[in-house]
Amino acid sequence: MKIRLVPSAVSPGGGGRGTFLSSYVIDDEVAIDAGGLGLLGDLKDQYRIHDIFLSHSHMDHIASLPIFLETVFQSSDRCVTLHAGAATLKSLREDVFNDRVWPDFIGMSEKGFPFVKVDVLEPGRMVEVAGLRMTPIAVDHVVPTLGFLVEAPGAAVAIPSDTGPTDNFWKAASTAPNLKAVFLETSFPNAMHELAVVSKHLTPSMFAAEARKLDRAVPFVAVHIKPRFYDTVVAELRILPVIDLHVGQPGLTYEF
Ligand SMILES: [Zn+2]
Ligand SMILES: [Zn+2]
Repeated sequence: MKIRLVPSAVSPGGGGRGTFLSSYVIDDEVAIDAGGLGLLGDLKDQYRIHDIFLSHSHMDHIASLPIFLETVFQSSDRCVTLHAGAATLKSLREDVFNDRVWPDFIGMSEKGFPFVKVDVLEPGRMVEVAGLRMTPIAVDHVVPTLGFLVEAPGAAVAIPSDTGPTDNFWKAASTAPNLKAVFLETSFPNAMHELAVVSKHLTPSMFAAEARKLDRAVPFVAVHIKPRFYDTVVAELRILPVIDLHVGQPGLTYEF
């Protein structure tokens, strides 16, 4: 399984210090979130993606979705399928594809212009696509949010997305026999613990507490590090007692 951390900075050297936006491309064809997806400069990279799983409605996870859907429209005979929870889809319809912020691609798709198909995700119900088993799991963020357990033959990866402390996700991840890695968020430095609690994100010390909830030791990749706090967060991550901790590198493709 290949997981590409989609970069979101366009200036040279700007891609390696945290990310402004969040998205992952799995095996070139499936995406989790669409923060920077529509900004991938090589159009062929965009054309190959046919299924997008959204974790939640926050802008850093959907920012370039409208651009992506417009770019890939009719690039193949396959229409993109958008998989998201009911609350996320409601927000997309009302707040983005509302004919003010962007044309109503969802409504237009029902009237002969197939920009996007919609699939409503339910926590715990696995969806099989492109040889991947995608299981959405509810996490604890300020809007309804789904993390994902991604399973391919012989390898599984856990991507909880934005979350505060949660037990649910770790219970589900602990059932995956071939879990190879977890991509876990660390938004704020330890000094901003109160803001992390209010906004339902994690600091490095909260990250370590979450990692301990998994029933075994696997590599943890720290992601969703706010660029403004990058140096402090990375320094705090480096001294954590978490074995096999890596700082996510935007643009890098991880193979499991
Ligand atoms: Zn969020
Ligand atoms: Zn986020």
